Amino acid sequence: MIRVGVNGYGTIGKRVADAVDAQPDMEVVGVAKTQPNFEAHTAVQRGYQMYAAIPERMPLFAEAGIDVAGAVDELVADADVVVDCTPSGIGAKNKELYESHDTPAIFQGGEDADVADVSFNARSNYDAALGADYVRAVSCNTTGLSRIIAPLREEYGVEKVRATLVRRGGDPGQNSRGPINDILPNPIKVPSHHGPDVKTIFPDLAIDTLGMKVPATLMHVHSLNVTLEDDVTGAHVRQLLEKESRVYVIPEGMGIDGAGKLKDFALDAGRPRGDLWENCVWGESIATEGRDLYLFQAIHQESDVIPENVDAIRAMTESASQADSMATTDEYLGVGI
Ligand code: NAD
Repeated sequence: MIRVGVNGYGTIGKRVADAVDAQPDMEVVGVAKTQPNFEAHTAVQRGYQMYAAIPERMPLFAEAGIDVAGAVDELVADADVVVDCTPSGIGAKNKELYESHDTPAIFQGGEDADVADVSFNARSNYDAALGADYVRAVSCNTTGLSRIIAPLREEYGVEKVRATLVRRGGDPGQNSRGPINDILPNPIKVPSHHGPDVKTIFPDLAIDTLGMKVPATLMHVHSLNVTLEDDVTGAHVRQLLEKESRVYVIPEGMGIDGAGKLKDFALDAGRPRGDLWENCVWGESIATEGRDLYLFQAIHQESDVIPENVDAIRAMTESASQADSMATTDEYLGVGI
């Protein structure tokens, strides 16, 4: 069993812990939190050992009725791999802690790429993380773009990617973010930083991205234009994407016309937290004009990176091949619609 510690138990951390807990070859040795809030109580209910991310705050956990197994450095010492799910910038500060215990760690997409030896997307560059000590699971948007670009490159070759990312203003619980009534070019500077981030996965890719922010919390929506090296039909691309386990091509007739209905669909299906681990590509939108491919996809920012973190653990510990790891993750998490 691979013993996994989760440092930072918020939007991403709680999902990573549950996904690891569901795997047959991994166990959660504990989670570290800064404060005994509602998520800490949920972690205890789920049977995770609680560690204090800030040791001086241990008495606060006791006052809230939460038993603390120790301080975060004990969790790091005890784990085979730590998944750092702390807010952007904190992960890089935690690296020293992981190094001091010789514990391999996975960082999240909010960190700069140079925090780790490898930026990771299971479908695109699993083998690059084999045996690595420090890996960065790339952001939700980069994960969503990589999952589409990898099969297109393999099947047709890609000359250039152009993508406009219509991003949610904040996650549902982030009530201080926005905009609440505006439509923002964001960042205004073009091209945006998202393209260079995708190049951490595909260094030789030609890609330009533009970002926007809108008053929504549900999902991001990407408008993609990919110039391929071959002339292909939209139907052929659709068949290709339908074979990808982490891409859901929304069939016509489902009546899913936006992110709201996608989230309803996930909740109706009994998905935990209404999560959509897959890219959701509107089948009707997949169209080609010569070598130019167009499509719309929705990306659930809170959950698409979760299977990637699980695969990164297996790659770092060299405990499974790409195909075996992705298949196991998908089976035990329930990925694939
Ligand atoms: P979050 O704020 O929901 O959760 C972070 C958790 O870490 C919180 O519980 C916070 O209290 C805790 N924390 C703060 N300081 C800590 C410390 N020193 N030690 C331990 N825990 C600490 O953030 P999130 O949305 O889960 O984001 C985590 C990382 O994942 C970021 O790098 C982010 O960019 C990335 N990410 C977020 C999303 C998303 O949409 N939410 C998607 C993909 C990647």
